[in-house]
Amino acid sequence: MDKTFKKLLEEAKRIAIKRRLSEYATCGHVGCALITKGSNIYSGISSDTNCALGNCAEFSAISEMLKNGESEIVKLVSYSSKGQIYSPCGRCRELIRMVDNNNVNTKVLINETTVMTIKELLPEMYITKVVESKWK
Ligand SMILES: [Zn+2]
Repeated sequence: MDKTFKKLLEEAKRIAIKRRLSEYATCGHVGCALITKGSNIYSGISSDTNCALGNCAEFSAISEMLKNGESEIVKLVSYSSKGQIYSPCGRCRELIRMVDNNNVNTKVLINETTVMTIKELLPEMYITKVVESKWK
């Protein structure tokens, strides 16, 4: 694991602290940290409710990045408060891929020794042409 992944993992671990918000909701089960092409680090935590509302930590980190005017992710790490490196879910893989075409090259830490790109984790993205034609 390189120095950047170590730094991202440290940040993801630091914020992955599950806490109860109410009898209906928790947050922080997962923490995510990413670094952009501009060398900025953004992070986010998950939120969950007992009626299936909530967001993945990756979604939160990506929202923070987008809020700051960036979209190209170089590296990303997610970590569970249960003590495990997480691979992003399918929904997050799609989001990472769709917010910037260069994110096919985003490197994701899968476990202590394995790094995979979004292209490897998501070989085909969801209905690209329909989405593109809608926004032209
Ligand atoms: Zn997700």
